[in-house]
Amino acid sequence: PSAESLARAESLIRTIPDYPEPGVLFRDITPLLADRDALRATIDAMIEPFEGRFDVVAGVEARGFILAGAAAIAAGVGLVPIRKAGKLPRPAASVSYELEYGTATIECHDDIAPGTRVLLIDDVLATGGTLVAAHELVARLGAEVVGTTVLMELEALGGRALVGDVHAVFTA
Ligand code: AMP
Repeated sequence: PSAESLARAESLIRTIPDYPEPGVLFRDITPLLADRDALRATIDAMIEPFEGRFDVVAGVEARGFILAGAAAIAAGVGLVPIRKAGKLPRPAASVSYELEYGTATIECHDDIAPGTRVLLIDDVLATGGTLVAAHELVARLGAEVVGTTVLMELEALGGRALVGDVHAVFTA
């Protein structure tokens, strides 16, 4: 995608102060999603560095699902949903991780064969806890995470130090 189309897409990310709680600058990607050209440019930019190197995308609930669905069709691959605990009928793997308050658990099915090359997708990289857990979840199935891609990285939160190599289309 052109720098111009990505700049336009970036301008459609809406920043909402104090949501969902005081002190948080929430990055609302719904205006970007609603725009045909911005959505296309963003999805293409998310998968471009990994083209031809993955067999399936894995998207993290909930906004990661939206991006992963679009990325799967654009790349011509399948999709594995990574869900919050208790939503899948036959979870094969489960990983818990720390949140600011309490813990969270994510799960997935074993619908991919060991050795499958997986591209991990989420909307926003904040502290990195979610993507580290997602990486571990996919590894437990014997699959190989070949890359991690996000729409936006929040640099000040330092998630990159935890997750390692992440491709971010936009940074804030
Ligand atoms: P983390 O595990 O801290 O990297 O948090 C990542 C998850 O929280 C992502 O799936 C995001 O959807 C969500 N998230 C965290 N901070 C923000 C933010 N400032 N704006 C939008 N989403 C956020």
